[in-house]
Amino acid sequence: DTAALRQLDRAHHLHPFTDLQDYAEHGGRIVNRAEHIYIHDTDGNKMLDGMSGLWCCNLGYSQHSIAEAVYRQLRELPYYNNFFKCSNQPAVELAKALAEVTPAQFKHVFFTNSGSEANDTNIRLVHRYFDLLGKPEKKLFISRKNAYHGSTIAAGSLGGMAPMHKQAIGLTYVHHINQPHWFENGGDLGEAEYGLQVARELEAKIEELGEDKVAAFIAEPVQGAGGVIIPPQTYWPEIQRICDERDILLIADEVICGFGRTGKWFGSETYGIKPQLMTFAKAITNGYMPLGGVMVGDQVADVLLSGGGEFTHGLTYSGHPAACAAGLATLEILRGSDIIETAAEQIAPHFQRRLREFEGHPIVGQVRGQGMFAALELVANKASRERLAPESRGAVFCRDRANSNGLMVRQTGDAMIMAPPLVCSTDEIDILIEKLGIALDETASHFGV
Ligand code: PLP
Repeated sequence: DTAALRQLDRAHHLHPFTDLQDYAEHGGRIVNRAEHIYIHDTDGNKMLDGMSGLWCCNLGYSQHSIAEAVYRQLRELPYYNNFFKCSNQPAVELAKALAEVTPAQFKHVFFTNSGSEANDTNIRLVHRYFDLLGKPEKKLFISRKNAYHGSTIAAGSLGGMAPMHKQAIGLTYVHHINQPHWFENGGDLGEAEYGLQVARELEAKIEELGEDKVAAFIAEPVQGAGGVIIPPQTYWPEIQRICDERDILLIADEVICGFGRTGKWFGSETYGIKPQLMTFAKAITNGYMPLGGVMVGDQVADVLLSGGGEFTHGLTYSGHPAACAAGLATLEILRGSDIIETAAEQIAPHFQRRLREFEGHPIVGQVRGQGMFAALELVANKASRERLAPESRGAVFCRDRANSNGLMVRQTGDAMIMAPPLVCSTDEIDILIEKLGIALDETASHFGV
């Protein structure tokens, strides 16, 4: 009974990233079924999922081998911990498989349940690394404004989202520089020149704080929740140079970019980044089980492994057998198929080409994207880049129209965000484009553009 379920949901369930008063008054959609790239709700609506859930179900919702692997594992060994000199077979096998699919410098992994915990783990790893090297004063992290690195206190501080920092959760050892958002901040500069300028903010920040105090810079190859900010081509080589010339560790947060989203296995490969640490979560299990972790590069691992003494960090479910079984089954699908290559070579070019047809739409100021990842900036005036309405109400309206028309997409600021499953066909991309076009037309007409 949908009405009763919705009533119970409103009465008892506090939802993440939600206006709790509004939800308690009005409730929401109850999703009860999914197949391939479609989700269904209890009101009988069928929606094309243009966001892969929360950027995690990259292979869609019908990968039964993952479900079966989890069930088998739960029957065999539902749980045992990885503390106190114990391990389990799926965790061992997944660690080996991850070492094989990630860039060559990564041979070790630390497992968590989520991306947030993985980024917290990065802080512990980095601090221990420099402590063992006899540089305990190297404690500071630099991140980017409007970044999202998770919701725990530490990951929320690493992220640079203003509303989360308003809750006064910022850690004193975390500092922020600007994101490489050319459309928003580039002014009269060309993209390439702007990319260099914004990258050099890192250099300036390191000089301001002191190279002997800064430990690491953390960033997503493409900032996802911050608005699918595609970096100018000049950005990452300059960031890499700045970190390489100093004793600063580079952490790539691949929680969204990892496992095929940007066209290669990892965003670091798409952008030629060589991080010493790499965060993953989400698509490692195709969203079927909670699992995250940090890939630890040789430079850091060699120090940790020869340091002696306990690494005082861990989670009850670090390396949970059933979650690792889901990760192994997901990697088996990815390695045993050409899903990533087909998405990169056939589906993504079609997706990006079709999206660019909206460049002529009266409320679309910019189309940007990489692989199966894209954003449309909405404006009232293309020349002045004036927005449709204050507080991003234009994009919120457009998202709500798309959702009502059977397309799940997201809004960040004034941008419409898309990250469809890699297993979409070109015909399904056409359906996405058609539904998005209707939502854009309805938004333009609502705001009188
Ligand atoms: N890092 C990035 C880049 C993310 O996008 C997210 C979640 O969206 C996280 C970390 C946090 O992951 P989780 O929600 O699994 O804690």
